[in-house]
Amino acid sequence: MTGTISSTDLFSRAQQVIPSGVNSPVRAFGSVGGTPPFLTSAKGALLHDADGNEYVDLVGSWGPMILGHAHDAVVEAVREAAGRGLSFGAPQPGEVSLAEEVVHRIRPVEQLRLVNSGTEATMSALRVARAATGRDVIVKFAGCYHGHVDALLAEAGSGVATFAMPGSAGVTAATARDTVVLPYGDRAAVQALFAERGSEIAAIITEAAPANMGVVTPPEQDGIGFNRFLSETAHAAGALLISDEVLTGFRASAEGYYGIDGPGAAGVTGADWAPDLMTFGKVIGGGLPVGAFGGREDLMGLLAPAGPVYQAGTLSGNPLATAAGLATLAGLDAAAYEILGSASRTLQQLVADALTTAGVPHTIQRAGTLFSVFFREEPVLGYQDAKAQDTEAFTRFFHAMLEGGVYLPPSAFEAWFVSTAHTPEVLDRIASVLPAAAAAAARG
Ligand code: PMP
Repeated sequence: MTGTISSTDLFSRAQQVIPSGVNSPVRAFGSVGGTPPFLTSAKGALLHDADGNEYVDLVGSWGPMILGHAHDAVVEAVREAAGRGLSFGAPQPGEVSLAEEVVHRIRPVEQLRLVNSGTEATMSALRVARAATGRDVIVKFAGCYHGHVDALLAEAGSGVATFAMPGSAGVTAATARDTVVLPYGDRAAVQALFAERGSEIAAIITEAAPANMGVVTPPEQDGIGFNRFLSETAHAAGALLISDEVLTGFRASAEGYYGIDGPGAAGVTGADWAPDLMTFGKVIGGGLPVGAFGGREDLMGLLAPAGPVYQAGTLSGNPLATAAGLATLAGLDAAAYEILGSASRTLQQLVADALTTAGVPHTIQRAGTLFSVFFREEPVLGYQDAKAQDTEAFTRFFHAMLEGGVYLPPSAFEAWFVSTAHTPEVLDRIASVLPAAAAAAARG
């Protein structure tokens, strides 16, 4: 669609009235430079901007658009729901169905509350954990992002990593004092902290598989996955494990990353374990603003009005959002995960081949169907490694891809997102752009 207003015009107007011209920092293209395309429509795997350009999308609105954009069944469900009313601020059937669907699909979730973003979900989960334990300290890992919750911005991933910020101004010293940041995957550091301060710790929060410093596969040691280790270490000290599956949920596998490293998953042996609380977002809203947190019934029972932990939302459980989420989950059957897995593997191979041919050092890391490309040779085990990649090579690669009609996340610290609409024909379009982009990355 060619409008009369260009992205350049829109960006300059936006900068007058919106800080940096955007409503979420990475969108400003601050680390890669240039003007972000202003998007006007999207269908399937394709995006259209105000300047009349078409792109193959590898962002997928950062995760929700797992069935592709404007998926017919999702759009129809939202249209139908809209005709029945936009918001009631009262219980409605869709929120029951969506909670049932999540409880049914994700074993550790016995009860669930819907909120409006991943940020709200992690913020609320922390509150429940602190109330349940009567303790204040939260442990997080460097490079993990859990939304813009005060307590969780220290050494965070996503935009905080993209712009190399240590955290955020405006967070009180008291809040920062209650957050301990450890290197991801470092069992000795976790054990040392618990040995010293175990009785003060309310919870460990971790991304089920980090994906906001690029994708880091949770490390296994002696047959015990990192998440299980965290759960056992926390429980031994009377603390909780909050597993953040806002990004990995319903994407890494049908049961999120827990479907990959949880008990009963292929190749996983040994003890039964589960996170106490889990957080979700993105996919369960199908593109509308939704988050959720859930877990053990005794913990979720602490929420008001039955319990003492206050948490609420004017638009929580909104009928359009639950309709979009339900229609999206309905589309996520075994066949859909086959397609996602296949598209993800094919794309990884195409990128690896192109970068190898051009002689560009790179590492591709995955967590189920989720993956990212690091511009460095060595594996990335944590945030220090992720920061050591060649972000300038990424920037050259990114612009050449954009020029060729492929829309990547505008940051070297983000996962790439495929959808069930990434058909072999769509992947061919990406393949045709990759050699030039890899050559651009190589021209250091
Ligand atoms: N947790 C994780 C793991 C995320 O990836 C994100 C968003 N990228 C969030 C929390 C925050 O979600 P939201 O942007 O919806 O607040």
